[in-house]
Amino acid sequence: MDEANNIIVVGGGPVGNALALALDRRGRRVTVLEAQSRSNADDDARTLALSHGSRLILERLGVWPLKATPITRIFVSQRGGFGRVELSADAVGIAALGHVIEYGELRRALAAAVQSSGVTVEAGCAATAVKGGGEHAVVAIEQAGLQRDLRARLAVVADGGGGLNLSQVKNHDYGQSALVCDVVSDQAHHNRAYERFTEAGPLALLPHGAGWSLVWTTRPECAQELAALDDRAFCARLGAAAGTAFGMFALRGRRQVFPLRLKVAGQALAPRCVLIGNAAQTLHPVAGQGFNLGLRDAYELARLIAAHGAPDPGAQSLLNTFFAQRRFDRTATILFTDSLIRLFSNDIPLLRSVRGLGLAALTVLPGAANFLARRMIFGVRG
Ligand SMILES: Cc1cc2nc3c(=O)[nH]c(=O)nc-3n(C[C@H](O)[C@H](O)[C@H](O)COP(=O)(O)OP(=O)(O)OC[C@H]3O[C@@H](n4cnc5c(N)ncnc54)[C@H](O)[C@@H]3O)c2cc1C
Repeated sequence: MDEANNIIVVGGGPVGNALALALDRRGRRVTVLEAQSRSNADDDARTLALSHGSRLILERLGVWPLKATPITRIFVSQRGGFGRVELSADAVGIAALGHVIEYGELRRALAAAVQSSGVTVEAGCAATAVKGGGEHAVVAIEQAGLQRDLRARLAVVADGGGGLNLSQVKNHDYGQSALVCDVVSDQAHHNRAYERFTEAGPLALLPHGAGWSLVWTTRPECAQELAALDDRAFCARLGAAAGTAFGMFALRGRRQVFPLRLKVAGQALAPRCVLIGNAAQTLHPVAGQGFNLGLRDAYELARLIAAHGAPDPGAQSLLNTFFAQRRFDRTATILFTDSLIRLFSNDIPLLRSVRGLGLAALTVLPGAANFLARRMIFGVRG
């Protein structure tokens, strides 16, 4: 490994691979370390709502078109309260507000693009520690039972906030879990997405293929109970929670439960080290922002390294610029997502009215819904 130029990316998930690809496209030499020896993407039932901005980035990386379902309208409401807001692609002047894609499909597409690029991929290679230093970062790895150290000018941690146990600034348990699965209903989706806030958490139905992708956020014990119900009882409970507009539901595929936390890491991990994607911030999926934000982290870091043109991608001045440029987008997206959950996931009558007023205001104030839509589509700079 040529340490003088090498960039190591820890984690070959969607964010790590997007960064590797973006760096490779700009002529940088990159090595990706991925702990899994084979992709477990097919075991993951989650789908992701990709923003329009993410689609543009994936296009630039040459990873589009993908098998994804367009969203042309989003309806947001709350159970037991007034107020409802509609966001529409037409009003913002684009063909789709976003696209729904299987996490596994996105992972496979990015991994295939990385495989056919100049990126070196070390599969079955887990980083056990990352340390910064003046001249290079040191990544301790374990591969096929052997341990050794790798050196690089820059180590980017994109491990999804998993095994490396890096220090966190914020770690908040929402006391909620997301149950995800695919369903079909009597009513076709016509590319509409629905998000309904309930006191236990938001319930989202996203258009996915011929049916829906369900993200049902609720108390952890309730999510486990829903996951254990037989198919018919589960669909009856879903029908009661979602409302009558959909007709009868039928289950497609298996149910999977994800515990939900807000995790925010400190920016400066160590010299020559940087965190991106879920490693930097793990968000509640309420607004579908986690991957979209992580992809912007990856794309902006690659752009900055290329723009810098310098031989040292781990220079502290470059990393300081990255932290400064990403601060606003990251902070605003974390705050937006966290505030939605704190405001909507409770049953305080006064707050229910305030929420209703907020949703109603978004509908009646000229441009307010479009302002919100643009932020969800492009990030805070939209
Ligand atoms: C239910 C649910 C719904 C969601 N919906 C949306 C949505 O609609 N829109 C959206 O934008 N986001 C959504 N998200 C968030 C999204 O899934 C994440 O933001 C995204 O997967 C983060 O990608 P990542 O590459 O940072 O991490 P990951 O996807 O977790 O990938 C990390 C990779 O690093 C590897 N790894 C871990 N530790 C090590 C190590 N020590 N050494 C080497 N490799 C390692 C792992 O094997 C993995 O391959 C949702 C999340 C959930 C739970």
